[in-house]
Amino acid sequence: MKKKLFNQISVIGLGLIGSSFSLAIKKNKIANKVVGYSRSSSTRKAAKKLNLVDTVANSLVKSVKGSDLIIICTPLSTYPKIINEMTPHLEKNSIVTDVGSAKLTTINEVSGLFSKFIQFIPAHPIAGTEQSGPYAGFPELFIDRWCILTPLKNNKPSSVNKIKTLWKSLGSKVEIMSPERHDRVMAITSHLPHLIAYNIVSTAADLETVTKQEIIKYSASGFRDFTRIASSDPVMWRDIFLKNKDAVLEMIGRFSEDLSALQKAVRWEDSKTLHKIFSRTRKVREKIISAGQDTDAVDFGRSNTRKKISKIKNRKK
Ligand code: NAP
Repeated sequence: MKKKLFNQISVIGLGLIGSSFSLAIKKNKIANKVVGYSRSSSTRKAAKKLNLVDTVANSLVKSVKGSDLIIICTPLSTYPKIINEMTPHLEKNSIVTDVGSAKLTTINEVSGLFSKFIQFIPAHPIAGTEQSGPYAGFPELFIDRWCILTPLKNNKPSSVNKIKTLWKSLGSKVEIMSPERHDRVMAITSHLPHLIAYNIVSTAADLETVTKQEIIKYSASGFRDFTRIASSDPVMWRDIFLKNKDAVLEMIGRFSEDLSALQKAVRWEDSKTLHKIFSRTRKVREKIISAGQDTDAVDFGRSNTRKKISKIKNRKK
């Protein structure tokens, strides 16, 4: 029988990412056993019902005992407490990894908390939906998506390779980056778009001259796409902005300058500038589609994606 990549994997936090990861590990037979732990008894109950893992542990310590890989899938602000609690119970030479969306501040905060016998190898799968919790997970989430590893200087190349193989086995494409670069790339591609969506939906909610019914009634004209992003989990996103503050502030600065230029073009009816900017942005969209990161189906391909996800979920019930 072929040796599995890991003997026992412990998944901490069984929300969207943790449940998807657990299901993908089981589906692809990456480990002999998957143990899961989540803070609330309702999520642990759901994990049992949905068969997310082989064993649902009722404590963090029980979950990590005997595991050669531990993956943290919780909001970034929970890391120090979780790591402090589990560290004395980790097996010697086990690997700890994560899926957190911001890297540099988190690494600086927690890398000193591990003993020298533990390899902490930070990772971030660029895959997700606006949903959260154990019912949101599905094993295909990571297929054809990038996973960025931001290894530490003291990581063993063999351990980094193991994490690389792990994500590739789940269908992801893997890239290695410095935590600084990761945070700047994510600030513009993910964090700023979320901030803009949170802001535009919040502004619309405050408008007094347009009624709430009108906002909902005419939302398909563009607003609806922002509301999808702005419905993402508030705890997770609060933590991301707190942990990637510098890179996000830098991107807000760049964005504000460009917004002022657009404001000026609208004010002065500068049709040439407006046309030039809008043509350039259209090309970006075309490049994303040809890179396979989205489809050109009407409605951003979302109705197709939704059908696929609901089919997967119905299969699970
Ligand atoms: P989620 O669906 O809200 O799940 C987070 C889970 O963490 C919850 O189920 C919660 O458990 C659990 N949790 C919170 N505090 C805990 C603690 N102290 N001990 C044990 N479990 C705890 O969020 P998610 O989308 O999976 O995000 C998790 C991580 O993935 C975040 O760090 C995020 O940055 C990263 N990430 C998210 C996405 C995305 O698009 N969503 C993409 C890539 C990476 P209970 O339900 O038991 O309270």
